[in-house]
Amino acid sequence: MKFSTMTERELRFAFQELDSKSEIPLVDAGKCRHELDWLYGINLSRLLTESALRQGRGYVTLSTGRVQGPTLGFVVEREEEISCFVPVPFWTISATITHNGKTFTLEYEKDKIASQAEAKGICDECRDVLLEVKTIESREIQQQPPYPFDLSSLQSEAYRHFGYSPARTLAFAERLYLDALISYPRTSSQKLPPDIGYSEILQSIASHTDYRPLVAKLITRGDIRPNNGPKDDPAHPAIFPTGEYPKRPTSGGEARLYDLISRRFMATFADSSVKTSSRIILNHNNRRFFLSGSRIVRLGWIEYYGPYAFDDSEPLPNLRIGDIAMVQDIKSIEKFTQPPYRYNPSSLLKKMEDANIGTKATRAGMIDLLYARGYVREERMRASELANKVTDTLSTYCPLIIDPSFTATLERLMQDIQDGTASRRGVLVEALEHLRPVMLSLAENEQEIGSRLSEVIVAQKAADVTFDTPCPKCGLKLAVVRSRGTGKRFIGCNGKWQTGCNFTLPLPQFGNLTLLTRRCNVCGFQMVQARSRGRRPLVSCPRCYATKTRKTKLGSNTGKIPSQISAGVPSVT
Ligand SMILES: [Zn+2]
Ligand SMILES: [Zn+2]
Repeated sequence: MKFSTMTERELRFAFQELDSKSEIPLVDAGKCRHELDWLYGINLSRLLTESALRQGRGYVTLSTGRVQGPTLGFVVEREEEISCFVPVPFWTISATITHNGKTFTLEYEKDKIASQAEAKGICDECRDVLLEVKTIESREIQQQPPYPFDLSSLQSEAYRHFGYSPARTLAFAERLYLDALISYPRTSSQKLPPDIGYSEILQSIASHTDYRPLVAKLITRGDIRPNNGPKDDPAHPAIFPTGEYPKRPTSGGEARLYDLISRRFMATFADSSVKTSSRIILNHNNRRFFLSGSRIVRLGWIEYYGPYAFDDSEPLPNLRIGDIAMVQDIKSIEKFTQPPYRYNPSSLLKKMEDANIGTKATRAGMIDLLYARGYVREERMRASELANKVTDTLSTYCPLIIDPSFTATLERLMQDIQDGTASRRGVLVEALEHLRPVMLSLAENEQEIGSRLSEVIVAQKAADVTFDTPCPKCGLKLAVVRSRGTGKRFIGCNGKWQTGCNFTLPLPQFGNLTLLTRRCNVCGFQMVQARSRGRRPLVSCPRCYATKTRKTKLGSNTGKIPSQISAGVPSVT
């Protein structure tokens, strides 16, 4: 039975239209994927773990695999780029003018000035001078409506607007799918075929009062067609709302995601938006300054996508050619070129997709696994020492495993099985031929690999629980400890045995705890993050939290309710 939504109508229809075509190639491709993951993942992970375990310094699960190796490789490589980066100074010019009581910021014609002397010269020359409007350039920009959602564009929009990790978005989407509210989310298609019934769905989602006027507007147009994107998926269409009415109350996250999907659905049928973009060019001698702005002249799809549309319009002063404006304030600002950004879960997922490693169904889970293994830390993913060592070991002894092009080759072979041009057996034999020498070379060097890895494991275990900020009472190190009696974790002072220091701070009890590099804005203490599966990580300052709870207790004694208690540990992500 083939279906993409769990609505009664489609299930009944699919059952009547049972497909008699053989799907054996699809089954074989699926099986082969599991077998390859098993062969690579199990063998390599076990070898890494055991080689370290044999050193007798404690157990840590180390893993790698066909997809995991290259994915971690991206993060490690980025970390290297950042550490090798040498910032170069440059200067920018910031100037303002005032027109009808409003201040506008000008751009200087060169956005990067290489020397301080040159920047200073420009500022001196243009201080308090009159600028004359020489030219006004205007052009119209049409922006096409967005494509229907495939899984990865849904994940990146949900990350941008709600901060949900890709895994969390997928979990919410799956619940909406099981409730028959949206179509199957694990799709890479950006196309909506006509047989889903565009206007029937639109009319059904109009039962939601927020959407009613929008749907009414769309329906009046004769021709309803989505702005289909280039990506396709043989198994499922793009993600769309089914138009079913929720049978149970949806949670906050599910409701938000449903709104995003419904608005995206409406938006893709709407007109393009039109925006006028203008640039006013002002002169003094041969120095040129720009004032740029834009204004929406036709909302089009933006009206339907509503809060999720990015509004970059910028008002411009009503200046005409020949008008004069005085420079109010001009200064040069020293800046530095910036290293590339660290990945976040959303951009890493995009990178995996671009490199064609993993599948739409598995990528989000793989990213969660990197956190669980202690390979990456924090929202802006920082590779741990352990991750560097594992990647370094693999690239020394078996570079093939972390080479994304090798994984992409296997991915293509699986596509060939699906298309019936390769056999499962043939692909497995080929993969084994690659794997065998890799395993042999690793096994030969097992002892050396083990001692390299176990060193870092021991160091990382200690570093993971030790704070950089010293004990405010005695100046020695603070660390995460567990109470023998209650099993609860808290921050204790290493000076306990030497100086008798009894300084402690409370910690959140749930989730995977990470000591962040970030410091608290208020007190300078090192922030911590508690990350629970499928939830937004909770970031807090243990010191401020302790002060706050103390105040709360005080408040209840005097019968007053302090205003800041409700949230508990503050979430500042
Ligand atoms: Zn102390
Ligand atoms: Zn603080």
